[in-house]
Amino acid sequence: MIYLDNAATTKMSKTAIDAMLPYFDGIYGNPSSLHSAGQAAAEGLQNARERIAACLGCTAKEITFTSGGSESDNQAIRSAAKLGERKGKRHIISTKIEHHAVLHTLKKLENEGFAVTLLDVDESGLIDPRLVEAAITEDTCLVTVMFANNEIGTIEPIKEIGAICRGKGVLFHTDAVQAAGHLPIDVNALNVDLLSLSAHKFHGPKGIGVLYARKGIPLTNLIEGGAQERGKRAGTENLPAIMGMAAALEEACASLGENAKRIAALRDRLIAGLSEIPHGILNGDREHRLPGNVNFCFEGIEGESLLLLLDDKGIAASSGSACTSGSLDPSHVLLAIGRVHDVAHGSLRLTLSEETTEEEIDYTIGAVKEVVGYLRNMSPVWRDLMSGKREFIIK
Ligand SMILES: *Cc1c(COP(=O)(O)O)cnc(C)c1O
Repeated sequence: MIYLDNAATTKMSKTAIDAMLPYFDGIYGNPSSLHSAGQAAAEGLQNARERIAACLGCTAKEITFTSGGSESDNQAIRSAAKLGERKGKRHIISTKIEHHAVLHTLKKLENEGFAVTLLDVDESGLIDPRLVEAAITEDTCLVTVMFANNEIGTIEPIKEIGAICRGKGVLFHTDAVQAAGHLPIDVNALNVDLLSLSAHKFHGPKGIGVLYARKGIPLTNLIEGGAQERGKRAGTENLPAIMGMAAALEEACASLGENAKRIAALRDRLIAGLSEIPHGILNGDREHRLPGNVNFCFEGIEGESLLLLLDDKGIAASSGSACTSGSLDPSHVLLAIGRVHDVAHGSLRLTLSEETTEEEIDYTIGAVKEVVGYLRNMSPVWRDLMSGKREFIIK
């Protein structure tokens, strides 16, 4: 199988698996237990926390372990909302292209009386920091803007937005799930106060993530119970997963530069190949783009059929985010960058990893060309477009 759906999830690295194994049957104590079995586990936990903190440029105390990106996003936003509420500030700023973990949390808060401003992005998915600045009011308690988009791969000007927020005394959260392990992250250089990441997006295990919260920002619990995670996230720690995440993040960060360079070269090869398909368009920014992301819309086809036929050819691809696939709604991200419904339905996301090879890319280019041609030949919409009965949207 040629796996090109690394934005949905990644294969675990050998390093991450090896780091987990001792914590299943050797060091299996509860880190909260006082006996030596517990203390051995507590040591592992502390060690993982420090190593992850080192990767992000923060202190171990600023790291909270969660069940993944979704929980981190929920807790970050809820915490900032609670702090804002105490000061009578009930306005939150975000964007139209966030992950649903952010958008649905904001919707809930809206129902609870918060005002939410969702900023527009430009045609490549970029957010203009000046729009953020202009949207901030006396009532704003939080700005949350993703580091890099999971569908179209656009990398946002996080540092600039963070600086604006800092200048105005507004908390800034970023969903860095797609960035972690692929782009350098230094929370201080980036001016972020809260940051989410998820291990399974960088070759770590599923069901584990991190919420970074700058010193002095009290978190609000989503889960009540024991005093784990300084009382902010109850429940016995998933130590094997935490160890796997620490190893995966360290590994990814150690070879980040060279990996990004190699993957970006393959990405560009894939983009060049798929650009030869007529009436197709690249989604996302050409320059500010995740090294492993390729996303196209092809007019006159339907994304689902494309995916099934590619699967038959041994290629695992996606039409966008895993959360929207299976529903008939076109991607909110593609709509936000101005794709109309018909075009947004014909989307294809291919996301690469360290393991992707040039042969796989070349095979994929051929397969996509063939399948798009095949589907178009069968499509009545395509016939109308070709005969001039209907006008092309993508020239
Ligand atoms: C995958 C993803 C999430 C959700 O992370 P989980 O660990 O699967 O809950 C959130 N935000 C972005 C941008 C993602 O890509």
